[in-house]
Amino acid sequence: MSQENTNMAIDEKLVNLSPFPSFVLNQNGEVLIWNDLSKSYFGYEMEDFSMNASALKESLLSSLSQEAYQSILSGKESLRFEKVQLVTKADTMIDSTMITTHVTVNNQPLILVTCILDESYTRMDDSTQSLKDLINGLYSSYMVVTVDAEGLIINCNTNFLNTSHWTPKRVLGKTFWQLFPDHETSMKATDTIWKTINSGQIWEGEAEKITKDGAPYWVYLTAIPTYSPNTKNYEFVLFEKDITNERKMKQQLEKIAYIDPETGLMNAHRLEQIVNEMIHEKRHFSFVYISIDKYYTIKELHNNRMEDNLIAEFTKRMKIYFQDSEMARINEHEFVVITPLGEWFTQGFLTYLKQNPIYTGNVAVPISISGGITRSPQDQSTFPHLMKASLATIANVREAGGDNIVSLSNATHKAINRKSIVEKRLLLALDQQNLKVFYQPQVDIQTGKILAVEALVRWEDDEIGVVKPEELIPIAEETGLINNIGSFVIEEACKQAVKWHKDGLDLKVTINLSVREFRDKNMAKSILSTLESTHCPANLIQIEITEKFALEAEAETSIIKQMRQLEDEGIVFILDDFGTGYASFRYMQLLPIETLKIDQTFIHSLLQSEKTQRLIHGMVQFGKSMNLTVLAEGVETKEQRQLLQEYGCDAIQGYLISKPESANVITQLALNSIK
Ligand code: C2E
Ligand code: CA
Ligand code: CA
Repeated sequence: MSQENTNMAIDEKLVNLSPFPSFVLNQNGEVLIWNDLSKSYFGYEMEDFSMNASALKESLLSSLSQEAYQSILSGKESLRFEKVQLVTKADTMIDSTMITTHVTVNNQPLILVTCILDESYTRMDDSTQSLKDLINGLYSSYMVVTVDAEGLIINCNTNFLNTSHWTPKRVLGKTFWQLFPDHETSMKATDTIWKTINSGQIWEGEAEKITKDGAPYWVYLTAIPTYSPNTKNYEFVLFEKDITNERKMKQQLEKIAYIDPETGLMNAHRLEQIVNEMIHEKRHFSFVYISIDKYYTIKELHNNRMEDNLIAEFTKRMKIYFQDSEMARINEHEFVVITPLGEWFTQGFLTYLKQNPIYTGNVAVPISISGGITRSPQDQSTFPHLMKASLATIANVREAGGDNIVSLSNATHKAINRKSIVEKRLLLALDQQNLKVFYQPQVDIQTGKILAVEALVRWEDDEIGVVKPEELIPIAEETGLINNIGSFVIEEACKQAVKWHKDGLDLKVTINLSVREFRDKNMAKSILSTLESTHCPANLIQIEITEKFALEAEAETSIIKQMRQLEDEGIVFILDDFGTGYASFRYMQLLPIETLKIDQTFIHSLLQSEKTQRLIHGMVQFGKSMNLTVLAEGVETKEQRQLLQEYGCDAIQGYLISKPESANVITQLALNSIK
């Protein structure tokens, strides 16, 4: 890649190579580099300027106006001063043209001053030998070509001839541009080089060139404008180092980084680049994600001999079927095809695979695939979203038995997008503490007194509006953010419980916890430490776990241990959503549960059928027989309450009593209920 140098980077060596007396200043006027020609023409040494920043101005540049001097130091633009009288150490005057250019040395912005002395002063004195040595050194280690102001080649060295295969006779008089290939990128780069050196600046960077026979090679090029006193015009010297091998190596490495060595398909990294380019160019395409079903089972069944063969054969079929489409291997057994072809054609790959089975020995390996087609930009329009949607599609296909390639409906794509927005906003909400906790009373069915309140998380986002817990909690569980929500709710609940306690209100606060949270081995510990930091007595807190939770906890001793630890401290557990289908009663014995909460779906249909009534009656009796408190949730009518009371239910929760409300509203309700 060629890089242009508007603010060119140089170093001391380069300044010393300059065929002119040259030096480098900083913006205070201090001399940082003073080349050998400056020494020999002007007689000063570096040390002569070390006393103070204005030493140069007071000596060499003493005839320069203050204004001109300041404009040089400001370094805003390249300047050219004609007929400046430079004062030497021997106090003689030398007429010179002075060119100032801004440069960077070690990333520091500085000013390069080049003095082009009038002809009469450019004598060949004792510096001739060292100049000759310098030129010889350069000519032996670099390819060197000199071109004139018109761009005609006027000189070159043998290094150049060897690499470029030109003969001196033929190359002289050819143009600068004929040294470079004539494809578009190269032509643009050549143009930049030419413009840069013609503006009096050095160009430095990698450049592609061609030999006489048109073979490309790469060089690191330093192109320096010089002034020829003979022609009174600029000439340009090109110093070049052949870097073709390094570049080849780099390309090889890039290829390795881009290509899956086993199949020769591109890898995921390259795929992402290509897809991003296509999206940028607003191109329409289908992103087809293909996953081999039961890959590891197949591998195992058909022993090791099969492994390489299977993927190679599969890839072969993919290449034949999808031909000109772009293909990538994402991981061991998953692939992506980028294709303009339609859905029916893509799905035809299933049939093609069946018609062209892969054999191990004489046996055909039964291969089926699950695939997802996602269109861009209609369905998804970024690489991460294409991947996410594909994985969701594959999961759907797998669930339905695999061996199919499908595209998701519009609605599903919208849901996927919504999910990733919610994820993003949730992170922000947690960060900014934008979540709130509402409380819903659980009352004694006999007296109507509020016994406890259930803490329920509430989130209203500035951008996406209200996000209901039904949507929020599953996403939070999936992303692991449930732990953050959990600790927020627990802390709020504890603080609030303490407040009510201090106000003389005897209210317990119930918290919902998911299994996912209890998988954290420090869950109990962190709950206990929150109790401590908020000075909340443990017996003010109850924890609701769902039946699903109970089923999983049953299998995980560490969860049971943690629950017992909390119970020992005085925390009560409530079994939420009781009756919703996980009818294993073993956990009733294993887990420290004190209350059963009959799920609201039963209560909602309580009045509709006698069968439900018998069922609920049975549930209440079951709870009582186990010595548990029975709570019913979702109670919306007096009739429901009446029946539940008849069955012997202890407590109720639901809109009949109150919706979930802010802590302040609850305080009022509680005060009223004890009046
Ligand atoms: P859940 O624990 O079963 O909570 C009861 C849900 O039913 C609440 O919905 C509540 O507002 C609603 N509800 C209460 N009474 C009635 C009624 O009479 N009629 C009807 N139709 N609905 C009623 P919400 O607040 O939307 O919560 C939904 C679920 O989200 C909760 O179900 C719970 O599983 C979960 N959740 C809420 N907050 C948290 C939390 O902080 N942590 C965890 N892990 N889960 C939470
Ligand atoms: Ca609950
Ligand atoms: Ca519930």
